[in-house]
Amino acid sequence: MTEAPLTGHIKDGETLDLRAYEAIGGYQALRKVMQEMTPQEVTALVKESNLRGRGGAGFSTGMKWSFVPMDGKGPKYLICNADEMEPGTFKDRWLLEGNPHQLIEGMIISAYAIQADISFVFMRWAYKEAAAIMRKALSEAYAAGYLGSNILGKDYHLEMHLHTGVGRYMCGEETALLNSLEGKRATPRAKPPFPQISGLFGRPTIVNNVETLSFIPHIMNKGVAWFQSLSRTGDGGTKIYGVSGRVNKPGAWELPMGVTVRELLEEYAGGMQNGYGFRGALPGGASTDFLTTEHLDVPMDFTAIAAAGSRLGTGTMVVLDDHTCPVGFVHNLEHFFAQESCGFCTPCREGLPWTEKILYALEQGHGTTADLEQLDLHTRWLGPGNTFCALAPGAMEPLQSALKYFREDFERHVHEKKCPYGNHSH
Ligand code: NAD
Repeated sequence: MTEAPLTGHIKDGETLDLRAYEAIGGYQALRKVMQEMTPQEVTALVKESNLRGRGGAGFSTGMKWSFVPMDGKGPKYLICNADEMEPGTFKDRWLLEGNPHQLIEGMIISAYAIQADISFVFMRWAYKEAAAIMRKALSEAYAAGYLGSNILGKDYHLEMHLHTGVGRYMCGEETALLNSLEGKRATPRAKPPFPQISGLFGRPTIVNNVETLSFIPHIMNKGVAWFQSLSRTGDGGTKIYGVSGRVNKPGAWELPMGVTVRELLEEYAGGMQNGYGFRGALPGGASTDFLTTEHLDVPMDFTAIAAAGSRLGTGTMVVLDDHTCPVGFVHNLEHFFAQESCGFCTPCREGLPWTEKILYALEQGHGTTADLEQLDLHTRWLGPGNTFCALAPGAMEPLQSALKYFREDFERHVHEKKCPYGNHSH
């Protein structure tokens, strides 16, 4: 039986309230940290654990914290990015609805490590139930003395607030999130300076994902060797993976980091539905490159998936089957990205709707060979380094890999002057 520290105690459809969380050892890590550890020791332990950010980028959590100035000057902020809006991604919701105190405890310890005074859970607008659960959990944590002044008798104070977003994908980008939280339009900021130095209201700020922060109490309790032992690879810990598409059992599972694409598909998602074959999959939400049948034995960790030409991203796989038109599939994604562009930088604002239009024309049988060249050019124009943030480069990942692996499908749309799958995306 695989150890699942983040989700093992969550029963379907139920929430662990404060009493239930304490009954399984909840808030013991906070007690230990407050009694025995300096902020620097907490950061050093997290750095040593090699906990990599689960929002999608995989940046070292401990290293990120170590950039925060520890000069005794406030205010400083810790923000949990719970604006989960990557298509096909529903892993953080499981943690938010099932075990909110695990996240709150992780946030208090993380805030202590950087000596933050104020923390926010920035939550996706549509996560209404999770917001209600979090509100209740926060008031329980305040009443129990885990938040507020003199936490567990220590000279450390922390306020924690829930802030619900406005339903835009852009708000999950950490600097757009900061602008949104400040009451401004959610456009990204230039980096550097990174938020660790100049974040919310220009003050040092850490932004971490829900899954990342939920690991912190466990690392404090059980240590680095245990965390490493959960993983099959150098990237420590477990990972919440998900699969959606025409598989028998779509869902999410907490598994050792590094399970293979094949294991996820066949063992956990129960294989493809009767009559459907596997053509490819986006391993980590929509903004990643396709993997195909040649990648089935690749371990799903940050390093191996990158070596296979894609990114682990959120680890929640979207499967493309052999009855679905790859052009229509990508058109659907580009429609989403074009809609969600914040419009701040020109390549993204203009390029994404143009990309969407070309894909639509191809699907309707009006595409030309020159259109395919335009799409190739767009993947470069909107690629890394040409836009202000990662939205458009992310949007180009499924397109560029579809053009590479499913080129003949694009060409058939041109030559047959119709969608060979009989699909008509709108
Ligand atoms: P990024 O690599 O630019 O940054 C990741 C984190 O590391 C940030 O917190 C950043 O501040 C920090 N960082 C990176 N380089 C640094 C440096 N040199 N010095 C100090 N700190 C540094 O990635 P990003 O633009 O923040 O995020 C992109 C990722 O978000 C993608 O991988 C995508 O998969 C993911 N994503 C997730 C969702 C979701 O719903 N979970 C939605 C959209 C995108």
